[in-house]
Amino acid sequence: MCCSGVLFEIVKLQPEDSIRDLEKLGMQINRKKTEPYFKQPCRFLDDCTCKIYEQRPTRCRRFSCFQLELLAAGEIDEAAALAKIQEARSKVASLKSELEKAGDFNTDTALTERVEQVLISQPNEGMMEQMRELKIFLGRHFRTLT
Ligand code: SF4
Repeated sequence: MCCSGVLFEIVKLQPEDSIRDLEKLGMQINRKKTEPYFKQPCRFLDDCTCKIYEQRPTRCRRFSCFQLELLAAGEIDEAAALAKIQEARSKVASLKSELEKAGDFNTDTALTERVEQVLISQPNEGMMEQMRELKIFLGRHFRTLT
């Protein structure tokens, strides 16, 4: 979920990242802003694997989700973390199913962006509420301040 456009819409590059090297690998970097970034879903995500793991950008290296942090600190066990991940996946799948019903099959765009685009042309209270609940859930159980 960290790389699939569910948790994040963009990843900002850091001064220690080599834009040239990442572009050579095929990363599409937006340089228009002061902090260059690349969009999510990441083109290097292959199922649950990063295809450029050894060369991945700094923020990818540093990020660990809240479930992983709780697990590493011994505050939850693996079963609890997996249950939370499953719950998140189920909420995401349900929202994606709503998007598809609305005619959106755009898997190259982050989830929030997809929902926003659909809602512009097709106001849908149910979808809006699902997105709102998912954002709260992800914020509470997965995002960290790092
Ligand atoms: S470069 Fe790798 S770790 Fe970073 S977002 Fe893409 S798939 Fe994920």
